[in-house]
Amino acid sequence: MKHHFKIQTHGKFLFLIMSTISLILMMFLTTLIWWFVSPRLHSISSMVAIFSLTVLRLFYISVILGIVSIYLSCYLSLTLSFLNKFIRLSITILFPINVFLGKFIGISKDRIRTSFVHVNNSFLNINKHNFANDEILILLPHCLQNYDCNLRITNNIDNCKECGKCKIMDLKRISKKYKVKIAIATGGTLARKIIVQTKPKCIIAVACQRDLVDGLLEVFPIPVYGVLNERPYGPCINTTVDVDKIEDFLKHFIKEKK
Ligand code: SF4
Repeated sequence: MKHHFKIQTHGKFLFLIMSTISLILMMFLTTLIWWFVSPRLHSISSMVAIFSLTVLRLFYISVILGIVSIYLSCYLSLTLSFLNKFIRLSITILFPINVFLGKFIGISKDRIRTSFVHVNNSFLNINKHNFANDEILILLPHCLQNYDCNLRITNNIDNCKECGKCKIMDLKRISKKYKVKIAIATGGTLARKIIVQTKPKCIIAVACQRDLVDGLLEVFPIPVYGVLNERPYGPCINTTVDVDKIEDFLKHFIKEKK
């Protein structure tokens, strides 16, 4: 049973196709620019012209390698860790172009971000991922806590009295059940600090689109299972999350003890 579990990543196609179009556009525009400036470069020195063309070609090759690796990971569950830096480079370069493109064709930033979270999650469907329970960290945003609750759970989730008014209760319980680390971050700086201190091999991160994407890009290639929070009362207040998704992940990705 365990080996057939797959995280649902249906939304990944949007990010992939937009990145591919962005790549083609970027190559077209930069080639055009180079074509215009190359006579000037040649007039300075042919060495300068050859050097700049080589740099441009190496850059293209790196971004193409990154995109091809993402497709291989997403659709064939194939990954080569030495290509990780190319994946990171291509996402960093193409993400802003995707957002720019999205503005023209009416695709919101959040839709692109959500699709990227699916792309990222599909990296985890590669079979080799299995973690010991103490290697996993569940990282939560503070806005999951009920707004009227005054208990200081950011220092220690055990301070939650389990009244059931928010999902912190269930999350605390599953962290105990599966013996995984759990922490609540009030922002990016604290999240980074928690990651440095706990050194997880895998993170289950709950956040809104913007924070999640920023975090994913920052910690890559640490595998992160991204779970978007739900915001029935708007952003940053009394948000909630599908705890079953997190429990399913834990059930299937924790290494069985021999
Ligand atoms: S479940 Fe815990 S954190 Fe949430 S409101 Fe109740 S005591 Fe506070």
